[in-house]
Amino acid sequence: MIPQRASYRDIPLYAPPKRPCRVDLSDNTNLFGVPPSVERAFHAAVSRVPRYPQGYAPDLRRALAASIGARPEEFTTGCGSDDVIDSALRAFLEPGDTLAFQDPTFVMVPLFAKVNGLRPVPVPLTATFDADADALLATGAKVIYLCSPNNPTGTALSRDAVERVAREAPGLVIIDEAYVDFAPGTDALDLARALPNVLVTRTFSKAFGLAGLRVGWGVGSPALVAEVEKARGPYKVTSVAEAVACEVLTKDADWVRARAEEAVSCRERLRGELTALGLSALPSAANFLMVPLPGALAVAERMRARDVNVRAFQALTGVGDALRIGVGPWPLMETALAALRESLR
Ligand code: PMP
Repeated sequence: MIPQRASYRDIPLYAPPKRPCRVDLSDNTNLFGVPPSVERAFHAAVSRVPRYPQGYAPDLRRALAASIGARPEEFTTGCGSDDVIDSALRAFLEPGDTLAFQDPTFVMVPLFAKVNGLRPVPVPLTATFDADADALLATGAKVIYLCSPNNPTGTALSRDAVERVAREAPGLVIIDEAYVDFAPGTDALDLARALPNVLVTRTFSKAFGLAGLRVGWGVGSPALVAEVEKARGPYKVTSVAEAVACEVLTKDADWVRARAEEAVSCRERLRGELTALGLSALPSAANFLMVPLPGALAVAERMRARDVNVRAFQALTGVGDALRIGVGPWPLMETALAALRESLR
């Protein structure tokens, strides 16, 4: 056995508790089905498979640029937004540098810190689940990660806090907008396009319904984007994924918007049902609800035994134990509610 890298000894593989369940509400993907253009685009792309993809996904960058009225050189793409975030950290930080992030947030962020030899500095969210701009800036970190709407709380950050961090941070600011399609109008694209140190990341995995294809993107100044592109190989987006993502972006925008609106309305209906059960979900701007609940891990285990998978968290900063319930078509929500009712007993 070759010797392990010392700093990797205590890094676990990402493995949330899962067992095949009839209803899986654990990963915040689009549960309303596959966008209409996917199947045809997928088959049409088969002829591209014998050759390598184009380097750095130029078609996708052009399509993204057209979709928001920007230039292709303002975009980077990757194997999911995970890959874009990880590449950005590698591009701008040396081992031993500091990565500050709001806490709680996306579980992969502290893991990316470890993998890249960085010093993770969690900064608790405020009592209203906003980013604590003063405390984040006081860390002096070379990179600050924000997430809005935030996973796992579901809450959106205030424009004031995001803008202050973006304008005053000494280094890179990553604003993760994986769930922003569920909260139109709350985005920070303008900051990414105006400021040289801001990277906004997005994904095709949530509202766009393409999690299995693994396509994410980032927008920032061309100089910043060029550094991110350097931090990895040219073929992170497969030719099939690039073709399908382009097609969905250009042809299925209405489908995506309508399903996102449906998710938001199911979410608020679900909130009402949870309130009737005596549970109080956090305010949400995403396609899931975070429900503080002591003993959430055991409740989730009992729900899995009833064929419903939701994500449980333990002792989160400012939240405690909680269940995170992904939102989908209402019949799925009814099944989840029935399992929850039985599991609370
Ligand atoms: N950011 C956040 C906040 C997420 O919740 C996720 C997925 N769970 C991602 C990024 C990564 O998504 P992907 O790599 O599929 O684009």
